[in-house]
Amino acid sequence: MDLKEKVRIIENFPIPGISFKDITPLLSDPDVYLETIRQLDILVDTLNEKPDVIVAPESRGFLFGVPLALKRGIGFVPVRKPGKLPCAVISEEYKLEYGTNKIEVHADAISKGDKVLIVDDLIATGGTLEATAKLIEKMGGNIIGIVAVIELTEVGGIEKLKKYRPKALISYP
Ligand code: 5GP
Repeated sequence: MDLKEKVRIIENFPIPGISFKDITPLLSDPDVYLETIRQLDILVDTLNEKPDVIVAPESRGFLFGVPLALKRGIGFVPVRKPGKLPCAVISEEYKLEYGTNKIEVHADAISKGDKVLIVDDLIATGGTLEATAKLIEKMGGNIIGIVAVIELTEVGGIEKLKKYRPKALISYP
């Protein structure tokens, strides 16, 4: 199944000049959703290292990270915006075009030496995923790769994340 055909492109969303890749059609048809998870699972196998746990940033990362963790029989750890997680957290701040953002994870969610796979819907500038990777490294986790449904190849994220072995099912310039 060609998943690229299912992604819906919305021009000028959320601001003029952005060509937004809408992944909701991958979710609304269960056959397409299952196929997306099956293809992500195969992509993980190409890393040649088995993850112990999947970490994904909210919220679209959860849509692919959780079913992939269930399929592989491994745990899932959510990365969230500040103030959402109830226990002790560690956090990471990262730069946006204007201002900064912060993300958090439960401090006990990853153990030293855990093999961690990061999952997200889309790799753009890579800012969110780089901050996620830094959180995992602070906890002593060993990042074995990053998989996403979509990569934007000319926005710089793939280059920025190179050392974490980013891979995606669908590419757009
Ligand atoms: P980055 O930090 O790589 O610039 O942004 C990545 C995040 O922004 C992803 O988690 C993704 O959810 C969201 N994002 C940015 N552009 C798009 C897009 O065109 N489509 C979708 N679905 N998400 C996007």
